[in-house]
Amino acid sequence: MTYRHACYILPQVVLLDAADRNSDLREAALNTAAASASLRTQRVAFTQMVQLLGVQGARLGELTPAGDKNTVYDVKNGSWDDLPGTRARGTGDGPVADEAVNQAFDNAGKTRDFYSEVLQRDSIDAEGMELVSSVHFDRDFDNAFWDGAQMVYGDGSGRILAKGSLTRDLSVVAHELTHGVVQFTAGLRYSKQSGALNESFADALGSVVKQWAANEKASEADWLVGEGILGTELKGVALRSMKEPGKAFEGDPQPGHMRDYVDLPDDNNPRNDHGGVHINSGIPNKAFYVAATRLGDHSWKKAGPIWYDALANKLRPNSQFKDAAEATVASAAALYGDDQDVAKTVRSAWEEVGVL
Ligand SMILES: [Zn+2]
Repeated sequence: MTYRHACYILPQVVLLDAADRNSDLREAALNTAAASASLRTQRVAFTQMVQLLGVQGARLGELTPAGDKNTVYDVKNGSWDDLPGTRARGTGDGPVADEAVNQAFDNAGKTRDFYSEVLQRDSIDAEGMELVSSVHFDRDFDNAFWDGAQMVYGDGSGRILAKGSLTRDLSVVAHELTHGVVQFTAGLRYSKQSGALNESFADALGSVVKQWAANEKASEADWLVGEGILGTELKGVALRSMKEPGKAFEGDPQPGHMRDYVDLPDDNNPRNDHGGVHINSGIPNKAFYVAATRLGDHSWKKAGPIWYDALANKLRPNSQFKDAAEATVASAAALYGDDQDVAKTVRSAWEEVGVL
């Protein structure tokens, strides 16, 4: 099967479950699921071009005007064929009247600053690629995603996801842009364990961006992805909890230990979530949380750089959980070799979740 996908913040299974519980929600869920399905079949995943055809990130950058680092478009409730939409705000422009535009712009800018200042990475492709975001995708669309080349945000129906919440939340924006970083580094295949690692790196580094922007210590952070973005029909605090996988909302399917690993097929059934990529990501998520809190201080000082080094220099498209565990231990030793406790702490985190 050809490898193509978009990285959604909200797994389709949550939409479908919500529709099962409440028939009033069926229209909202089906609208979002149907619009998502057309992406799956129509749009070419840039990952495949980047990884298989050797298309360089800089070539993608050439398609945009020089100097543009961060541009937000308004797709005005249009769909795939209308992307990216009308240019609403770009580098050097002041705020506009539309809050969604300003939020997408500011949060993409913060994420770019984090990668540049903390990890010395120039944008998602390390070559200064422009960050492109489109807001107001479709109508009442309950999702946000990275489509292989740009960020796309729905407005939320208010029932499954809160209206206007997707651009507002830095962890959502940083999560999606980190999918771009994954695409240009390890290229983790979006299926089963490698897909769950793709999701987990997006959650982990997305959380580090959020903590960095808030200047929070690992021990002070909430470790929630999408805090406050749930609509009225989902009972809970966030989309995911890295500290307590499975506790973010009622019906949260994430395990936090290998003994509870959910073995699902990667087929075309959206309930199976590409083989549980948003489900089993709870296990490496918990490992990151444990490592970051045991290492102490700020997560962007040691834990973030260790995970990033493993992603950028050690992992491959088909890497599995064990490979990620060994890679992060090796990265810890390489980066902080003078302090053996760092690598030991990273190992202990993976042992705690049953991967090592
Ligand atoms: Zn994702």
